[in-house]
Amino acid sequence: MGIIDTEALLNEEEKLLVRSIREFVKKEIEPIVDEYEAKKKFPIHLMPKMGELGIFGAMFPEEYGGTNYGVTAEMLIIEEIARAAGGIAATVLVQVLSLLPIFKYGSEKQKREYLIPGIKGEKVGAVAVTEPNCGSDVAGIETRAIFKGDKLVINGSKMFITNAPFANFFTVAVRTGPPEPKRHLGISYVIVDKDTPGLNIERTLDKLGWHTSETAELSFSDVEIPKENIIGKEGHGFYYIMDVFNHEHLFVGAQSVGMARACLEQAVEYSLTRKAWGKPIAEFQAVSHKIADMWTQLLAARTLLYYAGRLTDAGVDAVKEMAAAKYFAGEMVNKVCYDAIEIFGGLGYMMECPVQRYYRDARVQTIGGGTSEIQKNIISRRLLKRKGEG
Ligand SMILES: Cc1cc2nc3c(=O)[nH]c(=O)nc-3n(C[C@H](O)[C@H](O)[C@H](O)COP(=O)(O)OP(=O)(O)OC[C@H]3O[C@@H](n4cnc5c(N)ncnc54)[C@H](O)[C@@H]3O)c2cc1C
Repeated sequence: MGIIDTEALLNEEEKLLVRSIREFVKKEIEPIVDEYEAKKKFPIHLMPKMGELGIFGAMFPEEYGGTNYGVTAEMLIIEEIARAAGGIAATVLVQVLSLLPIFKYGSEKQKREYLIPGIKGEKVGAVAVTEPNCGSDVAGIETRAIFKGDKLVINGSKMFITNAPFANFFTVAVRTGPPEPKRHLGISYVIVDKDTPGLNIERTLDKLGWHTSETAELSFSDVEIPKENIIGKEGHGFYYIMDVFNHEHLFVGAQSVGMARACLEQAVEYSLTRKAWGKPIAEFQAVSHKIADMWTQLLAARTLLYYAGRLTDAGVDAVKEMAAAKYFAGEMVNKVCYDAIEIFGGLGYMMECPVQRYYRDARVQTIGGGTSEIQKNIISRRLLKRKGEG
């Protein structure tokens, strides 16, 4: 058993799943993390291998190539991968999020063209919602799609898009209707293939962390797509996107927990071997209490996270629990990684020390997938039964 009994309360299916993912991570991911971190590239050769192992399919039924285990199972997968590399986990979770609305709201044709190859890891998806002028305020998007016969013509741009440099398709939020009477009612969610003329990757973005995940800015210049590429109903995109984001809260929370686990494991080991004043630093109460605090925070975040996951699997409306899990885990991983560096002392500040990577990766966990402030808005709005935006 590791620092936390990750198998406690799992069913047999989930236990086997976690063990198989852990084995895969040890064999296929851990040996190459440093190389790909240095290259600032995602190891794309892993996609079909991950597909074969069922990494993208836990939430989807067998008829499309999934395993139908549920949301909790997908979170367990993401947690194990993030323990080795937050950036690789980011690619995985975005892949699943690009497939989710196609499965839930898409046509059979879209499922055949994107969901089935996506689950296999043969096609890579990206989620393109954020724009240069708006992120948290999703209803404020400016990318427009105008109907022209049986086509839609898209103009605009998208910012910070994970997987964009190598994605085969994008699920894109576009404005198809006027911002009146309500801004969110004019938004549709559409699929755009990467080779569609007028779709360009403007620039890849250099990040503080998540170096094994690739991020880019996109531009759409008279990009024509068939109307049949609209996911679900025209004008309902905002609701689909919120559904995707709620699941993202669980996945990013799982990623935070995986990263914090790795940092704490390494800090504990180091505290038992590093000596000062002739004894292991773990024997100083200032250090051992720090470890106790880190573990308690991690356990609390993980418990909240899987509580929200189980509620979701049970079909309960758990929007505020999902937001709370993302918020708490995002703040927690930053504290845990900060303290891990403190325990490593000067070595923790060196690029050769693995905990520095988790520390850099952790910073985005309170921002990507919805900031901590937005999570608190979601929670408080639900508790106070307040409607409205922001
Ligand atoms: C590495 C990385 C990968 C990403 N990947 C993707 C992706 O694949 N697809 C995608 O669509 N997006 C992606 N994003 C975008 C991400 O979801 C947004 O950055 C995030 O939602 C915040 O939006 P913003 O950056 O525009 O900040 P803003 O919305 O401009 O917010 C700036 C600050 O103001 C605060 N703020 C804004 N509104 C409120 C309010 N109502 N109440 C309180 N505080 C508020 C925010 O909390 C924040 O502190 C990614 C971002 C990063 C950094």
